[in-house]
Amino acid sequence: MGLMDYLGVDYRSARGVPVVNVPGCAPVGDNFTEALAELLQYLEGIAPLPDFDELGRPAWQFEQTVHRHCPKAGYYEEGVFAEEPGDTECLVEIGCWGPVVQCNIVERGAVNHMGGCMVAGGACIGCTMPGFPDKYSPFYKAPPGSAISGGISKVYGGGIRRLRRMSMKSGNREPMWDNAENVPTGWGRAKGKRDPVDKVNAYFYKKLQYRGSVNHAARNKKQPLPQSRDILTQKGVDHTRHVDVLGERIRSREEI
Ligand code: SF4
Ligand code: SF4
Repeated sequence: MGLMDYLGVDYRSARGVPVVNVPGCAPVGDNFTEALAELLQYLEGIAPLPDFDELGRPAWQFEQTVHRHCPKAGYYEEGVFAEEPGDTECLVEIGCWGPVVQCNIVERGAVNHMGGCMVAGGACIGCTMPGFPDKYSPFYKAPPGSAISGGISKVYGGGIRRLRRMSMKSGNREPMWDNAENVPTGWGRAKGKRDPVDKVNAYFYKKLQYRGSVNHAARNKKQPLPQSRDILTQKGVDHTRHVDVLGERIRSREEI
């Protein structure tokens, strides 16, 4: 039984304060001391009444789900899930209730701003929620709702993940390597020639990327190839003219 259940809905302390709930098993220490400090400042008349939610929790601490700030949320979005404790991926299939649990442990940290359930590899079992533990058991079993959201994530995330890998593959290459079809630098183990599929992807990707803005990729093509890297010989660049720092006008070298 919670203290609020025990004392009743109308309970007020001698100074008129209702029960304040800082939930958790155990609560994050910083949540507790912060709530207490806010309350004491209010009672001393030097700060407004802190914002509590309808369950008497400090609203600023418990308004977000733990899932939103979880370091594994990117895995969830890409539909990659852990199969057993200790795996690095999202833990929803081994019993994490984070998407529906209000808790700030991952951004605040458990002790000294460090650790916290998912940071340490643990699934959320909903210990800050009034329904804990009954509504979150059996522990370490996938929540029923995750069959829908996790399933959708697997389908959608699988496609998104592959598209992102393609962008990543392109981003791991210097534009000069693409132009020269060669890797003439210390990164010699990188592949010189790109696959035809990569070239087609890059073409359409750049079309979208630079639509309505300056196409640096096209400008880079005018860069001199290796062994003639003197930037002053770069085609299409007039080095006798300079853009004013504020971008208000173009001045000639003589004027400067
Ligand atoms: S581990 Fe839990 S809280 Fe983190 S992303 Fe997965 S489901 Fe969400
Ligand atoms: S089990 Fe869930 S609700 Fe409890 S502290 Fe960990 S993340 Fe927060």
